[in-house]
Amino acid sequence: MIAFINQVPSETKIKKQLRKIIFGQNMFCPHCNSRQVYRCESRYRCRKCRRPFTLLSGTWLKDMKLSLRTFWALLWCWTQKVPVLQTIKLCHVSEKTARHWFRQFRLHLPQFEEILEGTAQMDEAYFRSLSLIMAKQQGSRKLAHQIITGNSVNKTEAANFLFQYVQPNTKLHTDGAGIYRSIDQWWPVKHKRDIHSKWEFGLTSEIEGMFGNLRTFIRRMYHHVTPQYLPEYVSEFCLRFSSPKMFSSPLEYLKKSL
Ligand SMILES: [Zn+2]
Repeated sequence: MIAFINQVPSETKIKKQLRKIIFGQNMFCPHCNSRQVYRCESRYRCRKCRRPFTLLSGTWLKDMKLSLRTFWALLWCWTQKVPVLQTIKLCHVSEKTARHWFRQFRLHLPQFEEILEGTAQMDEAYFRSLSLIMAKQQGSRKLAHQIITGNSVNKTEAANFLFQYVQPNTKLHTDGAGIYRSIDQWWPVKHKRDIHSKWEFGLTSEIEGMFGNLRTFIRRMYHHVTPQYLPEYVSEFCLRFSSPKMFSSPLEYLKKSL
């Protein structure tokens, strides 16, 4: 039995919500799209192709073995950033199950890429064998990021990042790192640098704040950085920042991912 009942609706209510998201007003067969379907005990059947199906047959949740309430509870925990070790206790699942489903939720987030304009702050962060370049459009929720294999970023990689994610004629704010020296000769930006040794931090404070929040997020929620999953953690973090509505409830997440 799931300990926290208020956040998790009844099985009937969950089914009703899933049905609405997946099928809309009218049920149809996920195999042949026929609308001639009927209910057959806990499943559905198609009159045309005669195959049985469930609510989840046509979705990435088709092989799920959890009860719907446990599934909903796990998804609630994940959307609300409940740490893995807390989730285990709340949902009565193993750590392996919690990590498996948190990963599925990450992997089924919608993908979209932003092009930054106006003023963009750009910086790098290092995670053992991986490097992360990230930029934030100043004063907005727009982020762009790229993971680079290896523990350093060179000027070519920094310039490639600009080609892909930063609109020409953007004002670019960075720290004084060598990779940004004459970056405006590689891509048309109006470049300004903070020199940290002179205690200048104002130009890059937003992006540096994001890196701090990213590290805290990973440590709190997943407890350690697994290099294999770092790209997924970063994508999840960025989407949580840019599209907070999607993480406001299990329902909002499922509307975007099913
Ligand atoms: Zn059919």
